[in-house]
Amino acid sequence: MKDYVAERCKVLTPSLTLAVDAKAKAMKAAGEDVCGFGAGEPDFDTPQHIKDAAAAAMAKGMTKYTPSSGTPELRKAIADKLARVNGIQYSPNQVIVSCGGKHSCFNVVFATCNPDDEVIIPAPYWLSYPEMVKMAGAKPVFLNTSDATQFKITPEQLRAAITPRTKLFILNSPSNPTGSVYTRAEIEALGRVCLEKGVLVLSDEIYENLIYDDAQHSSLASFGPEFYDITITVNGLSKAYSMTGWRLGYLAAPEPIAKAIDAVQSHSTSNPTSFAQAGGVAAINGPQDHLAVWRAEFSKRRAYMLQRLNAIPGVSCIDAKGAFYLLPNISKVGLKPLDFAQQLLEEEKVAVVPGEAFGTDQHIRLSYACSMTNIEKGLDRIERFCRKRT
Ligand SMILES: *Cc1c(COP(=O)(O)O)cnc(C)c1O
Repeated sequence: MKDYVAERCKVLTPSLTLAVDAKAKAMKAAGEDVCGFGAGEPDFDTPQHIKDAAAAAMAKGMTKYTPSSGTPELRKAIADKLARVNGIQYSPNQVIVSCGGKHSCFNVVFATCNPDDEVIIPAPYWLSYPEMVKMAGAKPVFLNTSDATQFKITPEQLRAAITPRTKLFILNSPSNPTGSVYTRAEIEALGRVCLEKGVLVLSDEIYENLIYDDAQHSSLASFGPEFYDITITVNGLSKAYSMTGWRLGYLAAPEPIAKAIDAVQSHSTSNPTSFAQAGGVAAINGPQDHLAVWRAEFSKRRAYMLQRLNAIPGVSCIDAKGAFYLLPNISKVGLKPLDFAQQLLEEEKVAVVPGEAFGTDQHIRLSYACSMTNIEKGLDRIERFCRKRT
């Protein structure tokens, strides 16, 4: 058969995690006792008042197209939230609601990157960023980090990577997969380099609410008008409200960029689901009490996992204070992450995500968006697995 697939799709990397994940699911379906650390979504239910608001909207007939960039109510709720919580002033027409934060990121890259532009991505990275960049015909440029720097890049590293072709820098704090949280001063220093060099910043703040101990979240766009002008703030409802299946995310940008993204979205997906947006208004304007409860639970699991991991021979893990992931270094166990993950699944029935998926050959990712029972049992098994090899 003739090859009809576009070149831009051929450069996409098939998900490395798929093989391990598919196997884990098959084992589970066959009734095996698998401990899963792969989850990329909170294990809590969407708060009831949010579901009620969506159901009421649907019952009232809110089942038709909305404006492509979101309902006026939701865009206003988001603009108010960004001012109230993040200290950034956006008018509702600078806010674009999309089908998930992932879609918002895609829109940013698609609407700002020309073919052959370079996009700087710190590694380990969220696995969708490089693929979005490649789909836009642009080129991902990775900045490697290690446990020694808490997986954070330095301003010097960023400056050295910028060329006349650099269009965008992707900052994700708190980070998936590292869990690292940049301090305000660190973000400002990176922002200054971008200002100096005229580089735009995509600030993916989807995990802003999931931070522990003394960590604090900072939004680059709130640091002053000069930073505001080079920043696109991305966020969404998936993580803070456990609404991953609803597909609601948003971005806020300087007006010309928001307009360009509005045009892209109006000709591709059009509006995010109408009644989901009504749920979104209830989420953002409603009570936020669930967050303290979830944070306390995540915090407990995180502390337990951290202590257990660092007691395993050959394993070390930094005290990452955000999101719901830990990224232990397993290089001293003597296996590459993919082999580690495959053998761990076969021998001990524990599913983890191998670091190759995120651009590291020394780490595995463990999510703590799962029950304490799963965590305890899973860590016993990981410990036994590593002890056999060290
Ligand atoms: C989960 C996640 C998102 C957005 O997820 P959506 O479900 O599309 O809203 C964005 N960035 C990172 C780093 C994530 O982990």
